Parts: sequence; C-alpha cells; structure tokens
Amino acid sequence: MDSNPLYRGRFAPSPSGYLHFGSLVSALGSYLDAKSRGGLWFVRMEDLDTARNVPGAESGILRALEGFGLVWDGPVLRQSARLAHYESALATLLEQGLAYPCGCSRRDLLTHDPAAPAGPRYPGHCRQGLPPGKIIRSFRYKTNDIEHYFNDRLYGIFRQRVDQVVGDFVVRRADGPFAYQLAVVVDDAAQGITDVVRGADLLDSTPRQIALQQALGFATPQYLHLPLVRNAQGEKLSKQTRAPAVTPDATTLRRALRFLGQPELPQGAGHDLHEIMKYALQHYDYRLIKKDL
Ligand code: GLU
Ligand code: ZN
Repeated sequence: MDSNPLYRGRFAPSPSGYLHFGSLVSALGSYLDAKSRGGLWFVRMEDLDTARNVPGAESGILRALEGFGLVWDGPVLRQSARLAHYESALATLLEQGLAYPCGCSRRDLLTHDPAAPAGPRYPGHCRQGLPPGKIIRSFRYKTNDIEHYFNDRLYGIFRQRVDQVVGDFVVRRADGPFAYQLAVVVDDAAQGITDVVRGADLLDSTPRQIALQQALGFATPQYLHLPLVRNAQGEKLSKQTRAPAVTPDATTLRRALRFLGQPELPQGAGHDLHEIMKYALQHYDYRLIKKDL
C-alpha cells in the first residue's frame, strides 16, 4: 500500500489499566481505517490524570498492541510531557474572553439538574466574575448559543447545543490537571490528525471539542465513532466495570474483527495473527460496522 500522508489517525488510551476488549476494538478500528488507506497511525498516552495512572499499564498496552500487530508510526506522545502546550491554549482562551476562572466546589454544583445527559449542567455561577470569597478552583470554557454539529461517518449528523446540554465546561481542573476536552483538541491539532476513530461513548464530547477547535483556530477532523462493546450486564467495557485484559492471539483478533462487522479469513489451520491482520486490512470497509444506537 502506498503511504498516504493525507490520512493521520490515532489511538489515545489512558494508562489507567491494561488493554481490554473494548479498547482493543478502538485500537483495531482506528488502525484499520488508517492503514487500509495507507495513512499514518499514532499512539498517544492520555496520562494527565496521574491519580488514575496504573504503573505498568502503559508498557502493557504498548506490548499488547505490538502483539496484535498494531504497529504505530513515530514516537508515542505522552500528554504529561505537553503541559506547556495546554497552558498556552488556556492562555489564548482567557485572553479572548472565552474561558474564565470558576470558584465552585463540588458541593456548590451538587444541587443542579443531576439528571442531565452529560452530568449536571454548570449553572454559570462564576460567569460574571469570581463571587466574593471564592478562590479559583477551575477554568471553564465560556459556551455560546451556537449549535455545534458534525457528520459522523457511521452515526451521521450529530448536533448539540453545548451551552444547554453541558454548559460552561471545565478545561483545567481544580486539582491542577488540564481536562481531557482541552488536551485532546490541542494534541489532535498538533499531530495533524485528520480522522478520529474512537468509541461512541465520546460522541457527545465531540461538540465540546469542536467548540474548542473553533475557539483556538484549529481544523476539525473527520469523526468515526465505533459501537461500544458491552458486557453481559449491558455496561460499557472499561476499567470501572473491571474488563479483563486481552492477550494477543488469533481468537481475540477474530472476535474484534467480528465485532466490527469485518469479513473474516476462513477458519483453518495455519492462520496466524499476521495473516488475519493482512486479510483484514485488504478487506476493511467501515460501512460494514453496525451502529448500536
Ligand atoms: N483517552 C480516552 C479514553 O481512553 C480516549 C480519547 C479519544 O480517543 O479521544 O477513553
Ligand atoms: Zn463557578
């Protein structure tokens, strides 16, 4: 396959646990989408939430990716090494009046609309300035009344009034770390990512990310969200639901391909991981993926 510098994809795991079947599906989907088009595929460690980082998880994830033949391009980017970039993005937002300091504690926010889909909507206490006696606990992006939308390659048009659904959202947290929403936007832009392929749990984060891209003058990539892998209880596989780690073998790779609706190499002796992956790359078609919503 000729290389196609116009496609740049990525897999962005958090090293808060080992690679489980759900994160394998995200990794495989983004890899196949990139490599079937001759694109580049990067790995980025989203390790900003240091309290959640598990020792050994990063190398465990990388070894598992290698074991499955999911070989990334370039060096692994670590968010923990990029704080200066997030700092300057936040400074840009503050200078433009598009972010402001918030003094609300968790308790100040507890009483507001806990049933809202993306968690409680921020009621805007600190929009007009930090209330007297409050100290800065976080910085929030100042939303406006624009409806953000994008055309997901699988789920189609997705629209959201961020101001109504989430309200002014945190870009730097009270306890120091920059929020995922800001870091992911800065890094997708810095790595020149053209195509984001990731789990559908992030569909409703995408409008927030588009708002930040526009505020910071970044291009918006194409999005392809993948159906979520669920356990027998219907919960998303995650570290929180204690999804077991996967080990690289042909059976697991076949199962992941099947989950993504991709044609499988006929079962038979002698089909190793490498051959299964090669076949998958040759036959990959994102239109075969079945959405779950
Ligand atoms: N780090 C995020 C996660 O593990 C994924 C972020 C992304 O792909 O945008 O859920
Ligand atoms: Zn506040």
